[in-house]
Amino acid sequence: MDPLAWTDARLPEFIRDLEALVCLESPSRDLEGLSHCASFLKEAFSPLGRVEERLLATGPLLRFSRPGREGRLLLLLHYDTVHPKGAFSFRVEGDVAVGPGVYDMKGSFIQLLYALRFLEEQGVSHPSLTALFTPDEEIGSLESRPFIEEEARSADWVLVLEPPTPEGDLKVARKGVGLYRLRALGRAAHQGVEPEKGVNAILELAHQVLKVMTLEDRTRGTTLGPNRIQGGTATNVVAEEAVLEIDLRAWTLEEAQRVEAGLKALRPVLEGARLELSGGLNRPPMEPTPESLALFEKARAIGRRLGLELRPGRVGGGSDGNFTAALAPTLDGLGLFGRDAHQRTEGVYLNQIPHRVALLALLLSEL
Ligand SMILES: [Zn+2]
Repeated sequence: MDPLAWTDARLPEFIRDLEALVCLESPSRDLEGLSHCASFLKEAFSPLGRVEERLLATGPLLRFSRPGREGRLLLLLHYDTVHPKGAFSFRVEGDVAVGPGVYDMKGSFIQLLYALRFLEEQGVSHPSLTALFTPDEEIGSLESRPFIEEEARSADWVLVLEPPTPEGDLKVARKGVGLYRLRALGRAAHQGVEPEKGVNAILELAHQVLKVMTLEDRTRGTTLGPNRIQGGTATNVVAEEAVLEIDLRAWTLEEAQRVEAGLKALRPVLEGARLELSGGLNRPPMEPTPESLALFEKARAIGRRLGLELRPGRVGGGSDGNFTAALAPTLDGLGLFGRDAHQRTEGVYLNQIPHRVALLALLLSEL
């Protein structure tokens, strides 16, 4: 039986499962919500393989494994969401299921569940499979990262079930993301009595912000955002300290390293001022390789059989695929098709669910 018709026949059941998971709200760092969600996932996936749990400070990390034929496939999914509890609730509006995290990326768990159920029911084989269900992706994956990298080192392929692009395309490239803090230290003095004794840290940073921005190179897609600045204590005191936070995005590691070298080379302009730089690259760029593009071509060919015209998307935002791209061929954006990630209108298109379940099931079976 073809997976499209198989899922289509089970769509009402799929939507009920989706609602159940979305209603277990699990904002990052909400340990109670996250553990309820993890319990649901353990119960749902246990009949299909082995589920192991490791308790991290940010929530339970689940490792699902299912033996198969030769080759090792790693799947990455996160079950934390960006929405605070009670922000909005699950509902079906016409052909869209709306709910917190339904698109990013709780729908992907139900999608994987049905893809595996299909393979099991039909007796279709797949490579041996491991999936990590992580609780901290939306806050940088600091705790999950070593587990993700360890699994990726021994994987032949990595599939990331993040949402596709807004056009429904898969993701072969993501920008690297860096966060830097530039701290200026001056000297406090009375602004009225002896301002000449002071060194103004805010003034120092004002010089530095414009220098930082000369490192930007939009023709290469390298952007810098000096998006947070703080400093000073009172209007009648020469500011002793000021801090600038900078967001860096770049397509290649080479570009990220060029910017970082430039930031490290910054020198104070005012006499007596000091600068301190901290931070670094939080997620390296996910750069396409010949192997990852071959993986995309495989997905594209399967998509065509299902009536989907999938293109190789490139996006500025990061995912856990950024950690694995240098370790194993990685393809991202394989989740359900929908809209408005991280917004209160976040939703998935119901009539596209069978296509994405079928795409995943066929990709698992044909790798
Ligand atoms: Zn996500």
